[in-house]
Amino acid sequence: MKVLHNSFECYPIAKVGGLADVVGSLPAYQTKLGIEADVVMPYYSNTFVQKQKKSEIFSGNISLGSKEYEYKIYNIVNNKIKYGVYLIFVEGLLDSESVYGYDDETDRYLGFQLAVLNWLTIEKVKYDVIHCHDHHTALIPFMINNCYEFQRLGNTPTVITIHNAQYQGQFSHNRMEIIPDFDFSNAGFLDWYGSINPLATGIKCASKVNTVSPSYMDELKSHANGLEGLLRTESAKCTGILNGIDTDFWNTETDKMLPKNYKVSNVVSGKKTNKKVLCEKYGFDSEFPLFGFIGRLVSEKSADLLPEAILQAINDNSGISLFILGSGHKEIEDQLIELKDQFKGNFNVHIGYNEKLAHLVYAAADFLLMPSRVEPCGLNQMYSLRYGTIPIVRRTGGLKDTVIDIGDGGFGICHDQASVWDICYSIGRAIELFRDVKLFRKIQKRIMKIDNSWAKSAQEYIDLYKSI
Ligand code: ADP
Repeated sequence: MKVLHNSFECYPIAKVGGLADVVGSLPAYQTKLGIEADVVMPYYSNTFVQKQKKSEIFSGNISLGSKEYEYKIYNIVNNKIKYGVYLIFVEGLLDSESVYGYDDETDRYLGFQLAVLNWLTIEKVKYDVIHCHDHHTALIPFMINNCYEFQRLGNTPTVITIHNAQYQGQFSHNRMEIIPDFDFSNAGFLDWYGSINPLATGIKCASKVNTVSPSYMDELKSHANGLEGLLRTESAKCTGILNGIDTDFWNTETDKMLPKNYKVSNVVSGKKTNKKVLCEKYGFDSEFPLFGFIGRLVSEKSADLLPEAILQAINDNSGISLFILGSGHKEIEDQLIELKDQFKGNFNVHIGYNEKLAHLVYAAADFLLMPSRVEPCGLNQMYSLRYGTIPIVRRTGGLKDTVIDIGDGGFGICHDQASVWDICYSIGRAIELFRDVKLFRKIQKRIMKIDNSWAKSAQEYIDLYKSI
């Protein structure tokens, strides 16, 4: 069986968040399980891509309405990446350095999808399943089923994985001309509440739809930024498959980004050394319990609650350290920078994206905060478990599926509301746990042994492909 993953992110080629981690690791595990999995994604003029050996394998033409573009497809030649990677290059459209944040996003997403389908059609490249990730690639099932020029692909089964239903890629019907000719009696597939809504179209047209955790699929049926009714109607083809993590890459014994490698048997001394490095760099007392947060500073992650929670937590307990790594809303970034001056020695922040620092935080922290309002799966809590760092989570989406509270015989600290009070209450419980050295160490060891690898979920995806 051959499957083609279509995505705008894939680690290590281009990463903004969890989508990259999933598309960067799932194909490798699927390959291990005996199917052939490739990834097609846009070309980015970032350092990683520029350093790669690439070969041009195809070139062709697409039109977006009246605009014509030539595209090229490059294959990355890198034996460290265990699956095929194809990059779509379109000068002036798909050649940027960053993944998102451009004014012509609709054209970028559509141009990418058109180039993929044009390539598969002209070259007669045969995939048994086309797997689309998020709204950026969610018009593919519709175009395969309906656009005359892609008729040859007509029976190819498709899967849409929803990594985040907040973003749906809507654009106006006035731009209908950028979609190649199709039988107009099927135009209803494109519409959702007066706009062309790629994610809604994907849900209607794909053979199967899944979210990245079972709880997130349940939650979306009542809150999905306007798509809840559609997900209920289409529920027969919808399912939730929990993300896994790449346990070869996220491995405390071999992680090259850590000052000190460690394993279950020496977790105490190993984490202590990493913690010292972080504490020295950011001015913390390494005897204090250290709380980390890594992620986008947006309301989905409850990042807007963090400034107030930090202030209250430090006022309540002067013997704690809190460290935040992230970027996002300018207002939240500014508030955090201000707090850093106010609470020197207790709080520090690094605004920006820094992979190496993220690995250090997972290894150095005693607790990882994830008070998210919405968390489709969440990977940070699984990395933190693997690194012996106890997660503090709000029970939502994938966090609910992967973290069990200590009070219920589990290994994490959980709360229900997205509120400053709940975060501070959980921090209070964590401090108590930290003081109970014997129990704290026992949990550290226990969580490092939890298996959140792709082994099970990669097979679930293969079973899903077989069903279609
Ligand atoms: P998201 O909703 O952002 O996709 P996930 O939990 O699914 O959240 O995945 C987040 C991924 O991005 C993790 O690998 C995390 O370590 C990484 N990450 C997020 N923000 C940063 C940052 N500022 N620096 C480094 N890594 C980050």
